Amino acid sequence: MIYTCQTKCCHYIFPGSEQQRTCPDCGKPHIRPSSAAERIEYFRRQTNALTQRHRSG
Ligand SMILES: [Zn+2]
Repeated sequence: MIYTCQTKCCHYIFPGSEQQRTCPDCGKPHIRPSSAAERIEYFRRQTNALTQRHRSG
């Protein structure tokens, strides 16, 4: 499950289990399951990170 933090100025997108209750970035319990668009954004970031590491190396 991918979650999105709803805390102002955070909006961290992260993978979590069913028991996930808090944001690993800011520690606040304001998270909700990510929308389809947010999941796409999350996976795109993952792909970008891999690609950039590839190019610089
Ligand atoms: Zn957060």
